[in-house]
Amino acid sequence: MTTGTPRSTHLYIVTGASRGLGAALVRALLKPGNRVIGVARSRNTGLEAEASASGVAVAWHLQDLSQPGPSAGWLGSVLDAVDDTPASITLVLNAGVVEPIGPITQLRDTTLVPHLQTNLVTPMTMTGAFIEHTARFDCPRRVLAISSGAARNPVPGWSAYCAGKAGLDMFIRSVNAEYASLPAERAVRAVALAPGVVDTGMQETIREADFAQVQRFRDLKANDQLASPDDVAGRIVAYLGRDDFGTTELDDIRNY
Ligand code: NDP
Repeated sequence: MTTGTPRSTHLYIVTGASRGLGAALVRALLKPGNRVIGVARSRNTGLEAEASASGVAVAWHLQDLSQPGPSAGWLGSVLDAVDDTPASITLVLNAGVVEPIGPITQLRDTTLVPHLQTNLVTPMTMTGAFIEHTARFDCPRRVLAISSGAARNPVPGWSAYCAGKAGLDMFIRSVNAEYASLPAERAVRAVALAPGVVDTGMQETIREADFAQVQRFRDLKANDQLASPDDVAGRIVAYLGRDDFGTTELDDIRNY
């Protein structure tokens, strides 16, 4: 147990930090009193420069999160290297993919397995590593999984994505079932939060895909009805700071 050290900064680990909502989340976290660990497969040099100019400590890591074992190992070693007790620690499971899109008869293990590993299995192994490797800290611990409306209502052609996100929702409920009622210093609180329809690269992929409801997504873009990543990220960061975080396990940022 790391005791006796002064409470320092709030520590956030953000997966999928290179683009889209994850990059916007890192940007929204560039506030005094925070430090951030961002991970993805690729770099975002513009964001790295912005972070560096902000004075907030941001560490960037390259990791393929379609590999559940190495991803958990990576997170464990990063957490073991934290040498003071943060004021709080939050794991934001944001990285995700939407493809393969298409009919269930066309599902193939070659694309389905890496999809589910990225969207479901790695978030599970990383959460396990997070809980284990933060046990020495007596500070609030939170897990925020970025879910989707598609976890809760099926979209024809999105069976992989819907099933993975629905699995993620239930996994988050399982985390709370095991850890939320522990004494405060041992508790982990978890939420699966749908972010709305956000103007990112994932939406570009969706608009170019072939599935029954594609026109709805094309219309949202054409009518300027997509949420901006920075706006959604700002609201998610405010949500993370709520005293009642974890009370609503499956939530939607559009409710706030
Ligand atoms: P983007 O496609 O814009 O960005 C995805 C991010 O995930 C990138 O930073 C990418 O980094 C990272 N990522 C993907 N695969 C891997 C991998 N194997 N290893 C490491 N990192 C990976 O998506 P969004 O920002 O739109 O999505 C963010 C989250 O929000 C996802 O979980 C998505 O399902 C969810 N969501 C998005 C919605 C939307 O309308 N945009 C709606 C509902 C939910 P890199 O490629 O550099 O590795």
